[in-house]
Amino acid sequence: MTHEFTEKDWNDYLDGRAEAGTEARFERHLSACSECADLRRRLRLAEGQLRLQSGYWQHTPVLADAQIEAAWQRVVTRLRADELAPERSASIPERLRFLEDLLMLLCGTRTATNALRAAAKGLSTDAPEQLSRDHWPQFLTNLAAITTIMCGKTGAQLVWESGKL
Ligand SMILES: [Zn+2]
Repeated sequence: MTHEFTEKDWNDYLDGRAEAGTEARFERHLSACSECADLRRRLRLAEGQLRLQSGYWQHTPVLADAQIEAAWQRVVTRLRADELAPERSASIPERLRFLEDLLMLLCGTRTATNALRAAAKGLSTDAPEQLSRDHWPQFLTNLAAITTIMCGKTGAQLVWESGKL
């Protein structure tokens, strides 16, 4: 299968401005091509990150905690509505990759890697990618707790919801 889309196609598609025919082509291709489906996911995460950095904060320099939480909730809701999360049947490596992307969006690159490692600590292995399905629920509980401390409870809730196998 060839990756038949131009940068303009992608931009239009992600903005919801693609023509019906192009959109249908995208949907067909993305359901068959994991590489492009992955690209879509990453582009949407990047888009969410941009929105966070440029949008809510600049216009209101001093926000109360409740306002930050509400702003977060809006971003999170929009990301979820965009069907950001991969299929429920995803494997542990896929789920980890998604959680890492999500944590990068929520808390930054270094924190994301550290959080995943910290959450795996004390389980069967310190390497998150070697976790067994038996250990996954405990790992996810740990990760949600860590995320709560680092990025607040809305982020933790999203980690919790989207991390379930
Ligand atoms: Zn493709």
